[in-house]
Amino acid sequence: MPKSLDVVVIGAGPGGYVAAIRCAQLGLNTACIDDWKGVQGKPSLGGTCLNVGCIPSKALLESSENFERVTHDFAAHGISADNASMDVLKMVKRKNKIVSDFTLGISQLFKKNKVGSLHGKAQLLGRDGDVWRVGIVDGEEVRAKNIIIATGSTSRILQQAPLDGVQVVDNVGALSFSETPKRLAIIGAGVIGLELGSVWRRLGAEVTILEASPVFLPAADEQVAKEALRAFTKQKLAIHLGAQVDSVTQSADAVKINWRDINGAALELVADKLIVAVGRVPNTQGLNAESVGLKLDAAGRIEVDEQCRTSLPHVYAVGDVVRGPMLAHKASEEGVMVAELIGGQMGHTDLNLVPNVMYTAPEIAWVGQTVQQLKAAGVDYKAGQFPFLANGRARALGDTAGFIKILADANTDRVLGVHIVGPMASELIQQAVLAMAFSASSEDLARTVHAHPSLTEVMHEAALAVDMRAIHI
Ligand code: FAD
Ligand code: AMP
Repeated sequence: MPKSLDVVVIGAGPGGYVAAIRCAQLGLNTACIDDWKGVQGKPSLGGTCLNVGCIPSKALLESSENFERVTHDFAAHGISADNASMDVLKMVKRKNKIVSDFTLGISQLFKKNKVGSLHGKAQLLGRDGDVWRVGIVDGEEVRAKNIIIATGSTSRILQQAPLDGVQVVDNVGALSFSETPKRLAIIGAGVIGLELGSVWRRLGAEVTILEASPVFLPAADEQVAKEALRAFTKQKLAIHLGAQVDSVTQSADAVKINWRDINGAALELVADKLIVAVGRVPNTQGLNAESVGLKLDAAGRIEVDEQCRTSLPHVYAVGDVVRGPMLAHKASEEGVMVAELIGGQMGHTDLNLVPNVMYTAPEIAWVGQTVQQLKAAGVDYKAGQFPFLANGRARALGDTAGFIKILADANTDRVLGVHIVGPMASELIQQAVLAMAFSASSEDLARTVHAHPSLTEVMHEAALAVDMRAIHI
């Protein structure tokens, strides 16, 4: 590795590894330092997303949904599978294989693109002239003109519920249970709590979720949140809003949670496992931020401008460690933007066009503004909505819960937000993102030919409904 590089990227999650590859594509001499340790303490690239986040959770969601289909839904198709059973260890092994294949894939991409890959915890040591010095704990020192910090986030710890990694776990433990817990308690009804709760509920756990907020999914469109809560409750996910957790005590075979409900009544919940999923905190410890003058914001994130420039010259930060939604695709987009800025190109990330997705059943996805946001901002809007129930493909799938809602500016008809609760929302939302990226009007969507029969027709009808001319309702 040369003495002074063009770019050192700290962190090899979806923000960091994508930034490093893009830098290398642009001819910049780049190395990426990452400290993640996977199986048997071996370096494992890909960060939270690949090791204990997006990918493993989607693998388990798919396995558990298949089990649910076999045990609950196949009978309606005339298929009998009376003795279906679930081998949890095999399911987890499959998930681990997907993770290790992709981890190896990132190493190969680094080799192919000539990105230097270093393992260890990196810290900023200071600047000599126009070159930054980065130290690797117990390792060498590397130097570069530009630094991209992509150190991501870790689970927020709840003081009342310290993790022991066995009975009380965060996403890491919850993605690797060796058997389905009979009684599963979850603190936090955000995306992680709901996805993981869905996995283990489908495999037979009795799931109880305690959520501090009195409002379910406050960031989602109100009507979507209402529909989702109804569906999850029907599936027997017991969700308690406005819950206050007072204490958690463990014994050899159970964990006891003392909590108060929304009316202040003291209650006790006994479970075999407890998942704590109360949000995530940015990883800035150990970076030596204070000594080098790297500014953090009030929430402990690295302060950045619109183009992810930090308070230090030639030091950028992207992904979960900075403001904005904690999502992998947002991290990657910022990584590409910063690489292109360093490479002398234009760079831009529009946070309003970052899709939010929850891979529950029904899936939830949205982009742009919610009704609540438009009302608060005093924007005059029109809404068009269409249910999956009236769609032929959804009927064939047997997946008819939910709807698509399109919000468009009342004066210009420009699409301002699209909200989906229903089958394949994660895939359908991309049409809305693309439309909004091209500043489409609802009329543009309404005049676009959609394949029949397909779930995308629900988007088409919702666009027609903005102008009160939906056909099939
Ligand atoms: P990370 O992925 O957290 O990577 C940061 C890397 O930097 C890590 O490898 C870390 O070990 C390393 N690091 C930290 N400090 C240092 C240091 N000082 N020196 C060297 N290395 C360091 N997002 C989605 O978009 N879709 C999903 O479906 C989704 N599902 C999720 C499910 C779960 C259970 C969880 C927990 C998260 C999920 N997320 C999802 C969020 C997503 O994982 C994060 O938004 C994404 O990983 C952020 O990427 P990042 O590159 O900023 O950081
Ligand atoms: P997310 O940010 O999507 O990971 O979701 C985290 C969820 O945990 C949010 O819905 C929070 O309201 C919730 N939460 C945060 N703190 C607590 C707490 N002490 N008890 C219960 N829920 C909490």
